[in-house]
Amino acid sequence: MLPLLYAFFYLAHISPQGHALESWLSKWDRLAIIATIIILERIYTYRYAVSQRALLGRDIIANIVNLYITGAVTAFLLLPVLLYIPEHFLGRKFLVASPDQLGPFWLQVVVILAVVSFFRYWMHRAQHTNAFLWELHSYHHRVTDLTATNAEVSNPVDFALRNVIVFLMLGVVGFDPVAILAAFPAVQLAAVFSHCGADLKGGVLNYLFVTPEVHRWHHSAQVPEGYGYSCNYSVEFPIWDVLFGTFYLPQKDGQIEQPARIGHPSGLPDEPNYLKLTLMPLGLYPVRRASTTAAE
Ligand SMILES: [Zn+2]
Ligand SMILES: [Zn+2]
Repeated sequence: MLPLLYAFFYLAHISPQGHALESWLSKWDRLAIIATIIILERIYTYRYAVSQRALLGRDIIANIVNLYITGAVTAFLLLPVLLYIPEHFLGRKFLVASPDQLGPFWLQVVVILAVVSFFRYWMHRAQHTNAFLWELHSYHHRVTDLTATNAEVSNPVDFALRNVIVFLMLGVVGFDPVAILAAFPAVQLAAVFSHCGADLKGGVLNYLFVTPEVHRWHHSAQVPEGYGYSCNYSVEFPIWDVLFGTFYLPQKDGQIEQPARIGHPSGLPDEPNYLKLTLMPLGLYPVRRASTTAAE
């Protein structure tokens, strides 16, 4: 399924300029990816699935915010700061004088994919080990099952740290903007696919892509012994977990095992109030006084 999805979304993107499918997908590909994964979930139902229907409203809000607002707001706030560096020290817009200095187009796409996935691995690992970052990231870990609709359920600051700033930094370095855009669907598809709630068997692809079988272990309510805070931090390609000793995918009798339960490692239940968990770690959620609460 995954190679097919990659082929579809890439062929649609490189179809002739002005082609109806191309112009439609460039606006809606994020939703098209989620819709495709939902169809997979309906076809290949997972027998340990836990219904997430009660959280659908929260999931929809989180998707709209993180897919269409978080990136724009982060760019608006951070780009002037990042652009100040080359402008002030080099007297030009980007760190390199011309994108050609960074190699041919195809190589730039490969380098961007490698840099983005390396950055996301370490940022994600920090989001589990640093107390404040974990406060923000733990919202994502309160889900009780993986589904296409909760892949982007994350505090916007947590989301921006892991998914947005690396793209802004690559832009300021001076990579070809088209190469950055070309890399984007791959990382986007991989992240949503890792949350696919379908009963998909990864086989050997489990070692090349972060499949649902791999990512479920990252969400296991019980962290595998000897793995500290968590395992399988990679967002799209598990090579970083393999290299840095955090990869975990046990097998029994030749069959890949899955965690008994998905949920917050400290046992916190999922939270349907989007505003509460988004603002609380930042100290912005109004906490009612005890007397008011007691009077209710
Ligand atoms: Zn995590
Ligand atoms: Zn996840």
